[in-house]
Amino acid sequence: MVERCPEVSGNKINGLGEVNVRRPKVVFWALNPDDIAYGDVQKWFYTVQPDSAVMREERAKRQVVLDAVLPDVHSVITEQSGKDWTVLLERFVEAGECEMVGVTALRDEWVFEGQEVLFSNIIVLGFQHDYDEIKYAPDFRAGVEVVRQYGRAAAASKKITGWLREEGWDAEAATGPMAGKILMIPPALECGFGELGKHGSLINPEFGSSFRLSAVLTNAPFAPTQKRAFGVDDFCTKCRICEDACPPMAINPDKKTVRGEERWYVDFDKCIPYFAENSGCAICIAECPWSRPGLGFNLAAKLAKRADRKPC
Ligand code: SF4
Ligand code: SF4
Repeated sequence: MVERCPEVSGNKINGLGEVNVRRPKVVFWALNPDDIAYGDVQKWFYTVQPDSAVMREERAKRQVVLDAVLPDVHSVITEQSGKDWTVLLERFVEAGECEMVGVTALRDEWVFEGQEVLFSNIIVLGFQHDYDEIKYAPDFRAGVEVVRQYGRAAAASKKITGWLREEGWDAEAATGPMAGKILMIPPALECGFGELGKHGSLINPEFGSSFRLSAVLTNAPFAPTQKRAFGVDDFCTKCRICEDACPPMAINPDKKTVRGEERWYVDFDKCIPYFAENSGCAICIAECPWSRPGLGFNLAAKLAKRADRKPC
């Protein structure tokens, strides 16, 4: 694997140590791997996986969704309040299309360098892994579950995109794992999905770290959902389960400055080669205590109680 890694550091590409805010560059999961320094490692990811009928089936299902043609934007625009638009999104959670939904205004620093986005809002969707599958990480079985959730993610974002177009509002689906035009974790933080954990993934009291994201870009005037904190950031400063569980020791114990923001940071040059060789890895997600079903709400309640007891 070492021979496939580029000479340039993925951390440098990602802006580690940079104090100014700027647009991100794609480090991994490029639409065309030949466009990125880590392209040979990305291609290798697909060659080391076992030949598996279930994985082929999940990928084929996802491809059908990705290839589906979306309706044209209707000539008549539906007008309603931002609050009403946002309430309507809950239908997709109730129908089981996704487990979480939120909205926020799109920011320029979330758009990858070289990409143009003409939309003002981003709808973010969350898709929970089955813990009984993801707990086997880094086994291939967990990798299949990730692909399954990316399939759901593609389906829901395209469904919402189609709905908005039929209501007269242009919209564009953004769905992983390939990096499209935008980063997804920063808008998910902003619209209230949770907090950033030390392992570089989101943490939510209900779903822990065990979920995937997709998004819809649109100008439809949705009201934003509220950013939320549950005490996760403080919890991570005292916990080191993911640090100890990560085989290549890629998870930094302290926050770093990245493109003008101080935050938890995973070393790309250590994580990516291990990730590529081990079915997408996901050990840190599976090991994080917040990911254990039923535990997150109790943890959040305890942290809130502790915060209340602190003297002003
Ligand atoms: S995905 Fe695996 S290698 Fe990467 S940070 Fe998590 S545990 Fe470490
Ligand atoms: S394992 Fe511990 S330190 Fe790591 S993200 Fe989860 S709570 Fe934070």
